[in-house]
Amino acid sequence: MNTAELSVLAQQAGESAYRGQQIARWIYRRGARSISDMTDLSKPLRARLEEQHQVGRSRVAAQQRSRDGTVKFLLALTDEGGGMVQTVETVGLPYAHYLSCCVSTQVGCPVRCAFCATGASGYTRNLTAGEIVDQLLTVQDTATGNPPPLDRVSHVVFMGMGEPLMNYDATVQAVRLLNTEVGIGMRHLTVSTVGYVPGIRRLAQERMQITLAVSLHAPNDQLRQQLIPTMTRWSLDEILDACKAYFKSTGRRLTFEYCLLAGVNDGVRQARELGHRLRGLNCHVNLIPYNPVGKLGFGAPAILRVNAFREVLEQMGIVVTQRAQKGSDIDAACGQLRRRDAAERVGATSPS
Ligand code: SAH
Ligand code: SF4
Repeated sequence: MNTAELSVLAQQAGESAYRGQQIARWIYRRGARSISDMTDLSKPLRARLEEQHQVGRSRVAAQQRSRDGTVKFLLALTDEGGGMVQTVETVGLPYAHYLSCCVSTQVGCPVRCAFCATGASGYTRNLTAGEIVDQLLTVQDTATGNPPPLDRVSHVVFMGMGEPLMNYDATVQAVRLLNTEVGIGMRHLTVSTVGYVPGIRRLAQERMQITLAVSLHAPNDQLRQQLIPTMTRWSLDEILDACKAYFKSTGRRLTFEYCLLAGVNDGVRQARELGHRLRGLNCHVNLIPYNPVGKLGFGAPAILRVNAFREVLEQMGIVVTQRAQKGSDIDAACGQLRRRDAAERVGATSPS
């Protein structure tokens, strides 16, 4: 809930609307983990809220910390009872001058890109906006007490498990909550999509100042279809048209993600083809060297090939960034920690 909704809640309980602001501060800024933590609310109000509402965090099912400070959590969602425990990953990424959080939007992913650990795990359900914001609050809890500016999560990337634009409403609601309630600037929020055209077009209409990152991974339809076989409905031209519409309505420069897979899409010929496709678009390209996932059959590119790919694009006047590899000593690629956890649980119950 946002402050306005919490204010209505307070008024329904016979209190002033100002109490809503206090509750919002407790949840989003002061790290309250339960309604009873909100000590400046009257006891009767707390009791009344507790009857119908819950404040808290998902349970941390597993945690890894990298030598470079990256923290990765596997969170168990509250629909634990009975069947399989549903889990999602979230990551805290400390950079020199800011702390970023990478959030998941779905349990698994229906898109099933050939190289992705999340896609290989299948798809269970969408997350709610609350479950998305919860991930950021969990990372924030571990940052409190760090020397500034690393004591506050200031950037959020929707690049964890799942396809955000296939969980459109919760994603947009989470973006707004992160902005208005947690105080993260719209320009510090990035939503990454596999190129789901209806979602890009709809997001353009919201006119939010967030960054849209579009995962291309291929300079032509044929190769893209091999890597993302479930997304053949939209051609690269249609995706780029939707991206142009996004730029037109928001004025935000686009990011194109390109995951470099050894011997598959990392050749200079493909770099040139990509450069031609992107010419004239207000964009930059983010090259992501592949983080190998066992059994999927793809490998990480050699550094020389990454550099050659980058140089071709730069010579064509395209701004290129290379994602700094973080957490290489832990299960850094999205979906890997969850995959390991599932494998270990299967292992733990097997007779051998
Ligand atoms: N579903 C969205 C957002 C989550 S994936 C999307 O696909 O854009 C975020 C980024 O991580 C995507 O660009 C994806 O291609 C990339 N990615 C997935 N698995 C990876 C891996 N094993 N190594 C490197 N990048 C990976
Ligand atoms: Fe889903 Fe993105 Fe992984 Fe593709 S890369 S399977 S869209 S999470």
